[in-house]
Amino acid sequence: MQKINLLGYRLEQLIELFQQMGLQKLDAKRVYPWIHVKRVKDFDVMSDVPLSVRDFCKEHFSLDRGKCVHRQISRDGTQKALLEMADGEKIETVLIPDDDRMTVCVSSQIGCAMGCKFCHTGTQSLVRNLSASEIIGQILFWQDQCDITNIVFMGMGEPLMNFESVESALSLLLSPQAHNYSRHRITISTSGIVNDSFLKLAELGVPLAISLHAPNDQKRNALMPINFRYPLKMLLEAAKEYRRISNTKHITFEYLLLKDVNDSREDAIQLVRLLHGLACKVNLIRYNDWPMSRFARTSEDRVNAFAFELKKRGIMATVRQSKGDDIFAACGQLKTQIIS
Ligand code: SAH
Ligand code: SF4
Repeated sequence: MQKINLLGYRLEQLIELFQQMGLQKLDAKRVYPWIHVKRVKDFDVMSDVPLSVRDFCKEHFSLDRGKCVHRQISRDGTQKALLEMADGEKIETVLIPDDDRMTVCVSSQIGCAMGCKFCHTGTQSLVRNLSASEIIGQILFWQDQCDITNIVFMGMGEPLMNFESVESALSLLLSPQAHNYSRHRITISTSGIVNDSFLKLAELGVPLAISLHAPNDQKRNALMPINFRYPLKMLLEAAKEYRRISNTKHITFEYLLLKDVNDSREDAIQLVRLLHGLACKVNLIRYNDWPMSRFARTSEDRVNAFAFELKKRGIMATVRQSKGDDIFAACGQLKTQIIS
């Protein structure tokens, strides 16, 4: 029988599980901080938990972070790990060291059903959602090796299509009795799913990044099929609402520059018009190539010219430094490699 992984259980869920299995509420309350504050991997070291309970836990539960079956380190220090889940499926998780930050990029699904044309993950259809335990497991995997300061949900998958797990994971990350991250140290990136989860996420107050990538519906439809369902007008209205509810300073829009597709001066001007009146920031992303892709990277000059056009018209714009592209750990390059 597969052991139950406890990493994704919120305190009230852990208490319920323990009671269902004949343990005491107090046992759950004692085990919980060992998992999320001291972050131990082993029930044996939980010194204030009765021995008989520790034995029971060892038999029925696990604190596995996933088995690391492959690991790569990039020239710039970015690390990518391929983690094998209990059912044998594999996911990628990335650690990005920066001046004073250690950022973990987590996956929320195995594969992705959104099918964005420029994304390597999007070429792999959805295999399954990750559980909250599997999401927390990725963070603890890196936390076991260094102190994590920031978490971005920008790995494989669309977080808002697996909101139940993402919400549980977020509540553990934000809870002062568990991981106690400030909400400002977490970012969720979405392709723009404007459903109920979108507003629930706003209520948690977590900063949002929206993958925009186009200045009008026609271009966005061609790149991101999700735009047929949630076109720009709807998306931008929801973004305004998100900012209001979450009380965040601004919404970040990610804009991936693709050579001769969405990187002209006219595109920049249209983008400014589109974002008029919205407290926002545009994060320009350089395209990361992958085998068989039909897109190409915009030149450095063009990237800078695009940023200039935005700034000139009063839009805050930054260019994201791509990390780890030599090991295929950069945005949009994640795809589970089959290791034979
Ligand atoms: N599914 C979510 C989060 C994961 S992707 C989303 O789409 O927002 C994280 C970011 O990488 C997104 O902005 C995505 O559009 C971008 N991305 C996808 N493919 C890329 C590529 N080939 N090069 C650079 N960025 C890419
Ligand atoms: Fe999925 Fe995001 Fe890739 Fe689109 S960009 S296919 S939503 S992971």
